[in-house]
Amino acid sequence: MIGYIIYMNCFVCGKEKKDFEVWSNKLVIGITFDSDFQNNDIISNMSDKSIICHQCIVDIQNKVKDNLDCK
Ligand SMILES: [Zn+2]
Repeated sequence: MIGYIIYMNCFVCGKEKKDFEVWSNKLVIGITFDSDFQNNDIISNMSDKSIICHQCIVDIQNKVKDNLDCK
C-alpha cells in the first residue's frame, strides 16, 4: 500500500494526485501519438505505474516543440 501511495504523486514534479489532473503512462502514449514527445527523456523513463500531472505534460510538450524549432 505504501508503494501505491508513492506512485500517486506526479512522476516529474511530485505533486499529489488529489491536487491535479493526472495522466498515466498508457494515457500519455495513447493520446499524444507524437513520437518526439514519446521519445522525450522524461516520458520514456515513466514506468507503467507512473502518473504525470497535466502541467508537466504541457511543459514537456513545450520543450519538445522548442527542440524541434531549433533544428
Ligand atoms: Zn507534475
